[in-house]
Amino acid sequence: MPHVKLFIPGPVEVSDKTFQAFRSPMIGHRGQGFKDLYAKVQPQLQQLLFTKQLVYLSTSSAWGVMEGAVRNLVQKKVLNCMCGAFSDKWFDVSKKCGKSAEALQAEWGSPIRAEAIDKKLATGEFDALTLIHNETSTGTMSPLAEIAALKKKYPDVIFIVDAVSSLTALPIKFDELGIDVLLAGTQKAFALPPGLAVFVASPAALAKAALAKDRGYYFDFVEFQKNAEQSMTPSTPSIGHVYALSSKLDDFFAEGLDARFARHKKTNQLTHNWAAKHGFNLFPEKGFESLTLTCISNGARPGSRTVDVAKLQKLTKDQGFLIDGGYGKIKGTTFRISNMGDETETTMNQLFAALDKSMAQL
Ligand SMILES: *Cc1c(COP(=O)(O)O)cnc(C)c1O
Repeated sequence: MPHVKLFIPGPVEVSDKTFQAFRSPMIGHRGQGFKDLYAKVQPQLQQLLFTKQLVYLSTSSAWGVMEGAVRNLVQKKVLNCMCGAFSDKWFDVSKKCGKSAEALQAEWGSPIRAEAIDKKLATGEFDALTLIHNETSTGTMSPLAEIAALKKKYPDVIFIVDAVSSLTALPIKFDELGIDVLLAGTQKAFALPPGLAVFVASPAALAKAALAKDRGYYFDFVEFQKNAEQSMTPSTPSIGHVYALSSKLDDFFAEGLDARFARHKKTNQLTHNWAAKHGFNLFPEKGFESLTLTCISNGARPGSRTVDVAKLQKLTKDQGFLIDGGYGKIKGTTFRISNMGDETETTMNQLFAALDKSMAQL
């Protein structure tokens, strides 16, 4: 089977260099070799997340930490901010963890607004909230800085933020924002193979977790902190992933974070241009479009052209590129193109050339 290059919003294409690092010879996870490896990536991760806190490595997909955050940090009631498939599901997960939870539902394609959160938190019912910064199913980015500013008004509410599909593509300054948990899976904007998540917790979150009697073991934040202080993880991590992460972080800093952020902006803009050129409009509310993927309206919004998305996808796949045909209830009435990871103007233009060819055959 010839390789089909991934332009879906996760997992994304993994470079040969990353795979080579991934297959490094195995070492023991309690030995000096692993400690040195973790101690090497730690300051790089701290720089990437703009934090002085220790960054944790979790051998799980993002959902492990998302569920873990709820188990560690919700005592009273959690406000689940919802505006798409992933954020909607966090509400279900909270309930499945036995927590008292309330949905703050925005329409799919709309962001979460700080004013809406403010109104809810003013009731005093909540001790935590969950927010997805970049809702991948709808390609919509919520205004994180505005929302995080509420933390000053509600210091006792724990702010848990998923940046799964945005972290590394734009600056997210954990310490400055004052939020309590920031987490990401690494098969999206990090461009690593699936199976690793990174996260960070504020001192307030750690103090609160320490009081939770039913926080479990595998995702016990207190254990993560204790172990990270020794450059270790609570249980045996996927060591190959940590080697791959180390290689990837070297790539990030060789490029320079600012250059990396600018590259994502540029490749994202090119995707918007491609959509406009073909008479499509975008699904997200104007001004809240994701920087890492483009959710293109294929009839979901008035005024957009419609095509047979399955056919577009198939014709493009036959040329060696995979795009996404839409997620959940907007499958087919939208489709998505990712510009996460290593993609450049050149590689995006290769995709657009293939898509142009496909469009001509529809
Ligand atoms: C992909 C994704 C998740 C879930 O990630 P898994 O790797 O499947 O656990 C959660 N949140 C967002 C925003 C995502 O894009």
